[in-house]
Amino acid sequence: MDARLFPIPPTASEKLLGKPPRVRRWNSFKDRLIERFGGVVYKVGVDAGFDCPNRDGTKGYGGCAYCSQEGSLSPHQDPKLAIAEQIRKGRDFAKRRYGADKSIAYFQAFTNTYAPVEVMRERFEQALLDESIVGLSVATRPDCVNDENVAYLHELRERLPYFTVELGLQSAFQNRLEWVNRQETVEDYVVAMEKLNAARVPVITHVILGFPNETYDDMAETVRLADASGTHGIKLQMLHVIRGTKLAWLYGKEPFELLSAEAYGDIVVRLIERLRPEIEIHRITGETESSKLVAPAWVSQKGRFFDWFERELERRDTWQGRLSAPTASRT
Ligand code: SF4
Repeated sequence: MDARLFPIPPTASEKLLGKPPRVRRWNSFKDRLIERFGGVVYKVGVDAGFDCPNRDGTKGYGGCAYCSQEGSLSPHQDPKLAIAEQIRKGRDFAKRRYGADKSIAYFQAFTNTYAPVEVMRERFEQALLDESIVGLSVATRPDCVNDENVAYLHELRERLPYFTVELGLQSAFQNRLEWVNRQETVEDYVVAMEKLNAARVPVITHVILGFPNETYDDMAETVRLADASGTHGIKLQMLHVIRGTKLAWLYGKEPFELLSAEAYGDIVVRLIERLRPEIEIHRITGETESSKLVAPAWVSQKGRFFDWFERELERRDTWQGRLSAPTASRT
């Protein structure tokens, strides 16, 4: 396969009409899921009642400056419901909206390994009872990955057709982690990756781009660290300000510069050119609905950005991995 071509699985109507296969210039996680499971798979966000050491006082109070956990679930979901009920609602929504028959339970809210293994087990197993579920994705902080819970995460990886851990690196620069009050270190990420890699648990690394005064080289260093640490997938997110967060307070006091859609897009194109083609991209930018967003406004228009991004790859005749080491050696 030409390195620039990542197949887009055909829809049922495209198959029926015998339409020619389509390709993308980047390795979309959604495409790979459809290939693997033969149809649309929806990630149902779940709030399983875990806390976070950066909110309960163990590491800090109030959480990361950008954290808006109350708003992280989709509007159709209700964290007050039991786990099974949250999944049923999400699954029914996905069936109606996208025709999805299969789901992944995404333990999304707060820190989903911040509890004894028996508690994790009891909550995760509830999700597995739903017939639509093909696997789990578990979001957590690097400092909440330890030998005991990695053994359980490894067990899940062995048992389930799909299993990933989503780990927040956010930045490879300690001063930026401090600026957003992460209350953990870059070293925590490196150590957590070593444990998860040793247990062969695939990791999706979360990265924030566009901190104030952050250069392209700084952002490239963060992505390089995730890549070099053996991440399986990556979620890129533009730093944006959500109402009610500490970041909104800081921004209100002294507004800092945030990237325009064009500047952010240019950076993402250049970053993915250097990203290994095997790394699945789960998110190109974040999305927050306009009623919850302070700035920049373009972040509420994910679809428009997405279309621009795909056209821009075409216009530059570039693709994911074009400048990464293995691809460069083939061209
Ligand atoms: S680690 Fe996650 S849940 Fe905890 S405060 Fe930060 S963003 Fe929020």
